[in-house]
Amino acid sequence: MRAFVLATANHHKVDEMRRILAPYDVQLLPRPDEVPDVDETDDTLEGNALLKARAISNSTGDAAIADDTGLFIDALSGRPGVHSARYAGDDVSFDENVKKVLRELKGVDLADRGARFRTVIAVAYPNGVSWWVDGVLEGTILEGPKGEGGFGYDPIFAPVDEGGRSLAELTVEEKNARSHRGHALRALINVLESS
Ligand code: IMP
Repeated sequence: MRAFVLATANHHKVDEMRRILAPYDVQLLPRPDEVPDVDETDDTLEGNALLKARAISNSTGDAAIADDTGLFIDALSGRPGVHSARYAGDDVSFDENVKKVLRELKGVDLADRGARFRTVIAVAYPNGVSWWVDGVLEGTILEGPKGEGGFGYDPIFAPVDEGGRSLAELTVEEKNARSHRGHALRALINVLESS
């Protein structure tokens, strides 16, 4: 069993990650309360994920995992991208971010609303070694929110090949089998199993 301290305390992401990793020999440990959250100051997902994983590994002395995710919308030149969490401002709700995206895409045809989620997962060890993997999910931004599941931008993101259903309309198992986070975590397992 390999154990990693997980940088994120976002319970939505933690739940998804634990479920996706359940079949594998990997344990995710919560970040100790005394270890502070790390600011995402880089302008790339890889930079932020590495920053967080290295900081947590340094302060705990254990191997650590950190993830960073962005929603990249073609018609908005890739925004909100690395700023997806705070798109509508600091400490805003998921709903406010969703509303801002919908406002900015008002009048844009469905055919021109292509977008992708990208998750980068970084691993850092106390000996200074670190690396990252990623996962991508292609889709379309819907004209309004649909569904009750998931979190964040899920209600307005329809993955390709799902007949227009939003990520929030998929079951947990369906989302995890297709999602950016699912792909990134399975890439992580491939690296761990081959090393
Ligand atoms: P973070 O910086 O990795 O926490 O993610 C940035 C933001 O992207 C989050 O605050 C969510 O709004 C959004 N996000 C991350 N993962 C997902 C997902 O799987 N579905 C929908 N939105 C997500």
